[in-house]
Amino acid sequence: MEIIIGREEGARRLHCIANGKEFNIGQAGSVPSTVSRQHCRITVLGEKISIENLKEQNITYVDGIQVFSKAITPMSIIQLGSERFNVPLKQILDMTLGKSPVATGPQSSSQVPTYSLTHLKSVWDEYDRRKLKIQEKAVKDANMSRLQGILSMCGMCIGFIPGIATTFRVIIIVAALAIAIYFFLQGMSNDTVQKKLHDLDEEFANKYKCPNPSCGKPFGSIPYRQIEYNKQCIACGCKYTH
Ligand SMILES: [Zn+2]
Repeated sequence: MEIIIGREEGARRLHCIANGKEFNIGQAGSVPSTVSRQHCRITVLGEKISIENLKEQNITYVDGIQVFSKAITPMSIIQLGSERFNVPLKQILDMTLGKSPVATGPQSSSQVPTYSLTHLKSVWDEYDRRKLKIQEKAVKDANMSRLQGILSMCGMCIGFIPGIATTFRVIIIVAALAIAIYFFLQGMSNDTVQKKLHDLDEEFANKYKCPNPSCGKPFGSIPYRQIEYNKQCIACGCKYTH
């Protein structure tokens, strides 16, 4: 059996033709225009299922990888077009193989679970802000330690200028030493920048991950905007809303 999948003209639902029957899935306007009217063909031969592009310029992904034709399973994640529209493959197979009635009206179609990303935006923003703060402080610390070096050097030099009263000379040298020791000890007690960034990354990795509890793939340093744009988890295929 063959199923032709594409975009419905006009209402832009997902359009399927199988065994001479046509039906639409999803809500009006849900299929982006990067999905062709006749985009791909799914062929079911007994247990074997395969997918192929119907035009060279069509873009079809199977489990996140762009393909022209490929053997698939009912669990494969099929996405069409550059905007990666998710095809509810299992639903289509169930409908065409007669496991559930063919629906033609608008309905909520997707069997792919959907999770909200909203909370991740503040997680990313906070990470970004704290990372910047650590980096700014590192620059400030480096400048301070340079200033301290110059001050100590000046103190030492002034301390050795001839004709200065001995008491004054000793005070200046001791002050210069005190400044040097103070900054040295402070530098020792501060965590290094690398350690701070590492701790921040650890803390962040626990929060910044796929919201699907059965997936939880860490997003690493992928910016929130990018994840928002992808609209979907590469690992588990769940959809994201925000
Ligand atoms: Zn996931």
